Amino acid sequence: MKTNITGRFAPSPTGRMHLGNVMCALISWLDAKSQGGRWLLRIEDIDTQRCRRDYALQLMDDLQWLGLPWDGDVVWQSERNDIYQKHLDYLTGLGLTYYCKCTRNDLMASSAPHEADGRIVYPGTCRDKGFTEGALRIRVPEELEKTHGDFIVRRRDGAWAYQLAVVIDDALMGITRVVRGRDLLTSVPQQEFLYDVFGFRKPVFMHHPLLCNMAGQRLCKRDKSMDLGILRKKYLPEEIIGYLAYKTGLIKEYEALGAAELLNAFSWSRIPDEDIMINGECLPASVGQSSGNPSS
Ligand code: GLU
Repeated sequence: MKTNITGRFAPSPTGRMHLGNVMCALISWLDAKSQGGRWLLRIEDIDTQRCRRDYALQLMDDLQWLGLPWDGDVVWQSERNDIYQKHLDYLTGLGLTYYCKCTRNDLMASSAPHEADGRIVYPGTCRDKGFTEGALRIRVPEELEKTHGDFIVRRRDGAWAYQLAVVIDDALMGITRVVRGRDLLTSVPQQEFLYDVFGFRKPVFMHHPLLCNMAGQRLCKRDKSMDLGILRKKYLPEEIIGYLAYKTGLIKEYEALGAAELLNAFSWSRIPDEDIMINGECLPASVGQSSGNPSS
């Protein structure tokens, strides 16, 4: 089957992958591969304070161990400064950017958190001040002012903002399917706006539910018991994939299997809308006992 379907996994290497990241990789891989598409890997390491190359290399090793191979060369955001600069210059040429000197505290003091999800919406304080330094923001059209506000495209410290880099990269990499956690759902209008400004063709955006602990908090890199450093010592890759397939509704009963065995079962209609609770032990006690998995 030959298609132009191209998906991607775009992790930020700020620590070891946890089960939630694995679920994202698995769903995105299945989404692309079940349609005969390609699946690319982009390391989102523009935040040099938080990202580390050794985490990225570990992540690539983890993906291979899990049986989720990517196609083509890995794209590193940290190597793409010139590309981002060229695109930022284009926005500036259109008169769309301006410098902002507001600190986080200024914003907390001056704006009410967004009623739906507590985000702070930038009120446009510096829009017409004509500053010549600070963070760079982009003027959004009226319909985004209330819900998103003018957002940052380059930070005060010179780092590229996620929203800018992600759109440029997805477009230039020819991504047609953006699959990611629904914590990023609110970014879609900002990203679609940038697609329009640059004249890029938009991908399809798909968002999956998140993995949460029993307290209802989404898993994060601090939940050490769910990270692959621990899980690789206890389980086989097929046990982890099978467990996630079971929790995401792709299979009715738990069984250990590889990602490729899920290609036929994959369907977005099986994936629940609600976040997925997992207990502190993460995998059921029965999983892992038979394997005595020595590899890590
Ligand atoms: N790098 C982002 C993250 O790890 C994901 C970006 C995206 O998928 O659009 O949360």
